[in-house]
Amino acid sequence: MDVQWVLVCHGCLTVLVVVSFLCGQWPIFQGTFIERFHYFLTVGAYDYFLRFVMYVCGSRARDAVLSVEYFCCDRPNPILQIIYLAIIGVTYYLVAQSSFKYIPGHYLSEVHRFASFFAVVVGVLLFLLTSFSDPGTVKSENVTQYLSAYPYDNIIYKEKECSTCKIPKPARSKHCGVCDRCVARFDHHCGWMNNCIGEKNTRYFIAFLLWHFLLCLYGTVVLGLVVAGQLKELKVIYILTAYYGVENSFFSLAPHVVQWLLSSYNTQILLMVFLAVISLLLVGFFGYHLHLCLTNTTTNETFKWQDYLSWKRRLHEAKASTAALKASINGITAEQKPPQSKWRAFFRRSPLDDVDATKDNIFDKGYLRNLHEIVFPLSSRRSVLRSKVD
Ligand SMILES: [Zn+2]
Ligand SMILES: [Zn+2]
Repeated sequence: MDVQWVLVCHGCLTVLVVVSFLCGQWPIFQGTFIERFHYFLTVGAYDYFLRFVMYVCGSRARDAVLSVEYFCCDRPNPILQIIYLAIIGVTYYLVAQSSFKYIPGHYLSEVHRFASFFAVVVGVLLFLLTSFSDPGTVKSENVTQYLSAYPYDNIIYKEKECSTCKIPKPARSKHCGVCDRCVARFDHHCGWMNNCIGEKNTRYFIAFLLWHFLLCLYGTVVLGLVVAGQLKELKVIYILTAYYGVENSFFSLAPHVVQWLLSSYNTQILLMVFLAVISLLLVGFFGYHLHLCLTNTTTNETFKWQDYLSWKRRLHEAKASTAALKASINGITAEQKPPQSKWRAFFRRSPLDDVDATKDNIFDKGYLRNLHEIVFPLSSRRSVLRSKVD
């Protein structure tokens, strides 16, 4: 098999594995091969591995594997942080080693050597800031401050005490099972950051996602311009048309140019594909979190609202079917009413349409105020601190 086909297969396989692993559970992939592959990668393969260990080495070996899993997934640990640093470090090294020799080039000035380093450093700083900043830990000393900043809505949050911390649980907070602490305006526990994402570090997390999306996009464009510059400097199009007699049209030239690129600049092409895929995933994730911030909701609350709305729908269905049963019993025993017109019956709204399944989010105060709340967390504002002193 030609080297370029090996590279194309390698690229396709990378895209398939990354997309299936990270996005396989998205609704657009429901019922597809991607969803099944996602299940295999996240649960199925591990399950087979456990059964294999049990079959070959016995239950003690399986318990050892399970305790390693507990340490890696259910306890705070820096494994994913190290993987992130390794990915960003190795990618930057490969880009510098393979492409810095072409900078300055036909399309790129020397500034990109320094700009790329600066962009990576800022990315790592944002990562460290999100990882090591306080997400808004609720303690007995500051719980009153959080209680006044986040009132109970009595819909998805009711007055409660954390059974582990033994302190009142302010609305929007959650006890993180991994970190073993209550976190205000809890979004999720992020394994990559080895930290919770909460009231005080959502701003850094959002900045991290946006910066890394731009960083990957920048890397893809710079590598594209490196390769395009080489194409121009080496007069590849001219050589192909003048010496090899290839017709000067896009469709005739494209296969030859792609073949030349894959054989001479395969590292740059693979890095471009990798960075482009990661930037697409990051922009999706950033868009999702920006939407949450603009509507003043958290990942944790989207599940709570889903549960609340489905409970409300079920309740309404039960009420509607009871009413229908009552009506049919009354119909049998009472006098027959004049028959309803077929057309009127057809256009009559189903009782299930009346369900008031709307999300009444009291924390949503409009896009601008919601964003302001992300940048300047409520609990650290002077008004809330003053009310604590009063
Ligand atoms: Zn707690
Ligand atoms: Zn946590």
